[in-house]
Amino acid sequence: MTDLKGKTALITGSTSGIGLALAHNLSDHGINIVLNGFGDAKEIERERKAIEDKGVKCIYNGADMTKSTEIELLVKEAEETFGTVDILINNAGIQFVSPVEDFPPQKWEAIIAINLSSAFYTSHYVVPLMKKAGWGRIINIASAHGLVASPFKSAYVAAKHGIVGLTKTLGLELAEDNITVNAICPGYVKTPLVEGQIADTAKARGMSEEDVINKVILDAQWTKKFVTTDQIAQLALFLASDAAENITGSTQSIDGGWTAA
Ligand code: NAD
Repeated sequence: MTDLKGKTALITGSTSGIGLALAHNLSDHGINIVLNGFGDAKEIERERKAIEDKGVKCIYNGADMTKSTEIELLVKEAEETFGTVDILINNAGIQFVSPVEDFPPQKWEAIIAINLSSAFYTSHYVVPLMKKAGWGRIINIASAHGLVASPFKSAYVAAKHGIVGLTKTLGLELAEDNITVNAICPGYVKTPLVEGQIADTAKARGMSEEDVINKVILDAQWTKKFVTTDQIAQLALFLASDAAENITGSTQSIDGGWTAA
């Protein structure tokens, strides 16, 4: 795999789950990290220090992905600190599960803003830096729900299909600029987001949480295994490498066979 040492990755929503695992895995390869996301300040500082202890530089910026002005300042801080952003990983995301007639409009707005529009804004501000550097990687953490639907997840499925569309469009737009744009479409990964969803799905479908895991979640995943955060990070590292320079505008399924069925 290409040496990515000394490059800088900005990972949105990297204080938890997949994003935090990406930050740790990428920093293991000598990549500087811009952490973003919400959470307990002391816990975030502990993670930031743990990443820096690997010999890279790591900064934290708590920009709210619903606010374009904060996203602009996030990219500016990354540029001022590192000179550029080489790898942009749009990962921040939230979930809400409810029948459409009960779906709170504020939840719809928040999911579209965080899971979709934020990736437009980060790309809008980062692409000029990548063009100037003559190299870039944009990796959007979409979902199997970017390719297929499930009931009661109207906003999430719409946002994830949207980010797949954004991925394809920017892949074409930036194809001759040495910038690739790809989406990773994971199946279920056991993170705080999914743990919350298990409880919500149980409520929406009138099922026990154990039944949701066995009959809904692992039913969709033919390997009968949750995808791990490390597996996603390894795929992201490959997409960031020069070996993947001809992979662009693509969706990479990592879903235990879910979307093959
Ligand atoms: P998570 O809840 O563990 O982490 C979400 C991250 O996003 C956190 O760091 C949180 O602070 C951050 N975040 C939330 N709202 C934000 C905001 N307004 N501004 C900035 N940051 C914000 O969830 P996860 O499971 O690690 O999910 C990460 C991504 O992976 C999401 O886009 C999710 O849709 C996607 N995904 C997850 C799964 C899964 O099974 N867990 C499957 C497919 C795709």
